[in-house]
Amino acid sequence: MKHLPTVFFLAWLGIFAFILPAQAQDGRHYTCYRTSGPIRVDGVLNEPDWGKSAWSEDFVDITGNPGQRPWFRTRIKLLWDDEYLYLAARLEESDIWATIKKRDEVIFQDNDFELFLDPDGNGLNYYEIEVNALGTIWDLMLTRAYKAGGIPINSWDMKGLKSAISVNGSLNDPSSPDSAWCIEMALPIKELMHGKSLLSRPADGVQWRINFSRVEWHTEIRGTAYHKITDSITGKPRPEENWVWSPTREVNMHIPERWGRLEFSSANISPEPFHFKTEGQKNNFRIWLWMGAHELWSPAQWDSVLKEFRAAGVYGILTQASGATLARMIPIANKFGIKVEKWFIAMMNNDTNLIREHPDWFVVSRQGKSSITNPAYVGYYRFLCPANPEVRRYLKSRLDEYLSIPGLDGIHLDYIRYPDVILPQALWSTYGIIQDKEYAPYDYCYCSTCREKFRAAYGADPLAMEHPEQGADWRQFRLDQVSSLVDELADYCHVGGKRISAAVFPGPGISKQLVRQEWNRWPLDEVISMLYQNCYFGSLDWIGSETAEGVKALNPSVPLCSGLYIPALTPRDLHTAIAKSIAAGAGGITLFTYESMTPMHWEVLKALGRGVE
Ligand SMILES: [Zn+2]
Repeated sequence: MKHLPTVFFLAWLGIFAFILPAQAQDGRHYTCYRTSGPIRVDGVLNEPDWGKSAWSEDFVDITGNPGQRPWFRTRIKLLWDDEYLYLAARLEESDIWATIKKRDEVIFQDNDFELFLDPDGNGLNYYEIEVNALGTIWDLMLTRAYKAGGIPINSWDMKGLKSAISVNGSLNDPSSPDSAWCIEMALPIKELMHGKSLLSRPADGVQWRINFSRVEWHTEIRGTAYHKITDSITGKPRPEENWVWSPTREVNMHIPERWGRLEFSSANISPEPFHFKTEGQKNNFRIWLWMGAHELWSPAQWDSVLKEFRAAGVYGILTQASGATLARMIPIANKFGIKVEKWFIAMMNNDTNLIREHPDWFVVSRQGKSSITNPAYVGYYRFLCPANPEVRRYLKSRLDEYLSIPGLDGIHLDYIRYPDVILPQALWSTYGIIQDKEYAPYDYCYCSTCREKFRAAYGADPLAMEHPEQGADWRQFRLDQVSSLVDELADYCHVGGKRISAAVFPGPGISKQLVRQEWNRWPLDEVISMLYQNCYFGSLDWIGSETAEGVKALNPSVPLCSGLYIPALTPRDLHTAIAKSIAAGAGGITLFTYESMTPMHWEVLKALGRGVE
């Protein structure tokens, strides 16, 4: 893995723009459950515990650039017990080869798989293990990142490490086809904990910094062997591909602060069955899933997934699928009685044509700076101004494509808001900021349309006010801009014969304060409140109390769903969160996301008894 100089830059999720939670996260997250039986480290992932574990997300290019898609799929799973952290990896590969047989040689000169682990998360004395398809190991410890003057200690060996490879195909034989190679490892926790803080000892809720990488060289077959393709000008091999779990956004894995997180759960991978006591509300209780686009799924794949959804009692999906995919998938969803709504990102917009042609459509901060040139928090935080009539026309024109799709049940609005003037508190440390009041760089919108509209209604220019962030009229004015935009969009969808729902922040107390959503006044068919307790230092009780606040604030005819963040909920937590949501009067739950669900999370849904086989 290359070690390039880097500039400091805050760790941050945003790169996964295909599945964006409607609020910030940093890096990937994997919940690691306890084993329920022995794991035999032989490279064959046939233990029942592996079967019940969820695969990670597919690896992506190290830069996070969605345009550079890996052409082979790579995924991992993790489990733990008192003695070991277990790793399973599956690397799809059409040409499996390896040459290095000596331990601690530079394994990434072959195609390899790499694990990076920093248990106490301080970036000091972290571990790196590389392995090729021959099973040759290079394990080393880094005193700190190279850019910070770190030294690799190659002589360090992980005592008691167990590792095995299985090859689906034939190693170093171009004459027969290959499909994948698998790695199974058991890392002794005692060794990993050596010299580490006791606080990072594996236990419920403890998190370790972790990342995985795969090096893939460009090869060709010459004679009876694989050879690296050389560049005709330099005479050197073509640069390797680096595919990773949590992208570091530059070709350098040694940025521990941008790795993902492994969270230990004390829950067993096969726990006691789940039961729900509250029968009364179950009949109208709805289970929704947020889902990615899955544009490449065949009709047969949709058929099997949606059939599973019906068996688990899923009511509907909120999908990022394009119009073309929707048209193909909806008839299958209808067959299984699954509702489909288009997941529609409303105000956040990074369309380069729009930015070039209509810069005046984007929100402007109290510092007078456009979110185009000065986005808050992350580079893609560019938002349209809800007060601008042309923006409203533009949004409706974008909806037209979906309103014309037969069988689509509705539109699901997301990012229907201003940029966060205050971030959820658990994210402040990610950005190194304290937002104890509304600071100017995050306070929107002071564009000419807004200032003019406010002056016409209230006779004042918000920028001329000494403390505009404290003005009650100015605050209400902005709540009203989003509300009246939703009024228009709701009308538009209803006239087009579709339902409309929205993902909103908790509250409405919190949502009014953080992102200017007064959603209890919006004419929606369903409200989904994103109760991501991990962003607010909230407990599972907090999910219940926020649900109750929302239900009380809403017109009783509008159901409120609790939006639950699966990566931060063990199956047992999910069970508790659902029970508390039911008790607080929720009309259902919406899970973020389908892709994060483990088999045990599905067991929880089935226990609600809504499924049809
Ligand atoms: Zn504006």
